[in-house]
Amino acid sequence: MMIQIDALPAFSDNYLWLLQDASTCRCTVVDPGDAAPVLAWLQAHPGWQLSDILVTHHHFDHVGGVAELKQATGARVHGPAMEKIPERDVDLIGGETIKVLDQDFQVIAVPGHTLGHIAYYQADLSLLFCGDTLFAAGCGRLFEGTPQQMHASLQRLAALPDTTRVYCTHEYTLNNLRFACAAEPGNEQIKARLQQVSEWREAGQISLPSTVALEKSSNPFLRTDVPEVIATLEQNDSKRYDDALSVFAGLRAWKDRF
Ligand code: ZN
Ligand code: FE
Repeated sequence: MMIQIDALPAFSDNYLWLLQDASTCRCTVVDPGDAAPVLAWLQAHPGWQLSDILVTHHHFDHVGGVAELKQATGARVHGPAMEKIPERDVDLIGGETIKVLDQDFQVIAVPGHTLGHIAYYQADLSLLFCGDTLFAAGCGRLFEGTPQQMHASLQRLAALPDTTRVYCTHEYTLNNLRFACAAEPGNEQIKARLQQVSEWREAGQISLPSTVALEKSSNPFLRTDVPEVIATLEQNDSKRYDDALSVFAGLRAWKDRF
């Protein structure tokens, strides 16, 4: 089983992930905030069919192209049942397994950025599509959920195998790594990653996908139990933090001001 995955850029910093199965000439797109890049790809690849659309949450930059793509291709639309998703065919709440491109994708509930936010995980190919929940070296803002919900959601994703490739939606990595350096200045892996991603970005290359292993070693939001992270946050906020959840909430609030 071979699935090729390409990033179709959209807006200023979104990626629409296009999963392609060359053996059947079918493809699937994740979070098409804009239909145009997908329609252009289909036009350039005659004979290919868009079979499915996977939606992680209801924000416009993730669903803006869904209705047009559905109308043009008849693709089946999967998305969170709790949220308003255009043309949704399959209602998901987390815990389901769906067949897409002949592969099993597990649906994981990851509330926090929004309340119905879901992620899609393919275990055999080690693929995770996590929308605006886990970012490379960062995490989504808390628009609807509580710090507790987001912290639990990130823990759920961090518990996936180390080799899992993390396909998030936005190219925020460089900015996230600058914050990670501030939160944990002694972490050499963060410094090395900042250097690497700076080079990639200067060369016009994307910084994704990441991996669960890389995130665990350099994402401050997955490192809320690391003494240096806690000490830096305490110094920054001039107060004591006693548990991982309040450290997470403190870090998220600091990043919002950063
Ligand atoms: Zn969003
Ligand atoms: Fe987004």
